[in-house]
Amino acid sequence: MKTLTLESVTAAPGTKAHGYLPVAEHPDGSLENLPFILANGAAEGPALWITGCEHGDETLATATIIEFMAQLDVRKLKGSIVAFPVLDSTAFNVKRRYSPIDSYDLSRAYPGFANGWLAEQVANRVTARIVENAQYVINVHNGIPGILDVSPYCVATYEHESEWESVLKGFTESFLFDKIIHWIGISTERGARQSTMMSTLLKKKIPTFVPEVGPDTPGGLRTGIRGFTNSLRYLGMLPGKAQRLAKYQSFPDVIHVFPTRGGVFTSFVKLDQVVSANQKLASIRNFYGEITEELVAPADGVIVTVWTNPVIGTGDFCAFEIATFQEFKKPWPGER
Ligand SMILES: [Zn+2]
Repeated sequence: MKTLTLESVTAAPGTKAHGYLPVAEHPDGSLENLPFILANGAAEGPALWITGCEHGDETLATATIIEFMAQLDVRKLKGSIVAFPVLDSTAFNVKRRYSPIDSYDLSRAYPGFANGWLAEQVANRVTARIVENAQYVINVHNGIPGILDVSPYCVATYEHESEWESVLKGFTESFLFDKIIHWIGISTERGARQSTMMSTLLKKKIPTFVPEVGPDTPGGLRTGIRGFTNSLRYLGMLPGKAQRLAKYQSFPDVIHVFPTRGGVFTSFVKLDQVVSANQKLASIRNFYGEITEELVAPADGVIVTVWTNPVIGTGDFCAFEIATFQEFKKPWPGER
């Protein structure tokens, strides 16, 4: 086993190390430095990267990564892990979803470019390092604390069934979440999906999936750490047989339901509830007490994201996500 090196930080076989990767320069000349943790196994094996907090308020994702890396017994590890618990540093440090510097969504900034928005610079530098170094990537997200709850699920994206069947399927299933959402087709009508880390790395043939951990902190930590552990077993990086779920729900699509009016938000459905097309999901009441909008389900599916804040506005992400039983082919204004 070789020494693991990133940005002049080295981890000898069977050790951990940590450091910072500079990814951009701020107006005052200070560097934007992303903290990372290296875990170098005692024996040869795959190179896995674990990343989180592309949205700066998704601190549960950050916590699961830090806890897992702290608990990991590196002497039993085969291969290496590079963990980045926070990818959007300037957003994270002010407890915001997007960076106050550019207000740009890092999770839609890939593959980025060197002279782009700050988020695009970060995406560009991170992508380059991943492509140089990683064979597999797990990119952790979670809901928006106090605003939006997400049911634990994994997302995988691909153009062709063969890409799913080859390695991605087993790798994604190994996280042991009982819902997997497929983002099929990244280049056509679902344009927003082209700009994710997953779709960028798909083109580089690096299997990548997103687990949405949560909605609660203890549950997210427990299931997140269980997921990492089992995925490492699946990849042959930790001793022990990888578990397999006897069955899970597989969804060919997901729809975002956005409000077109602002006001007091009342949901009639709960996380994980099965809904049918045209079912009433929520009402929005304006400040004069009038109902100004009723949101309805555009298709049959399961509620996997629900807005929990008492108030919602147009442009908020998002009232609901519905994981659908069929691929959703109708034109839909709510993709982002
Ligand atoms: Zn997110």
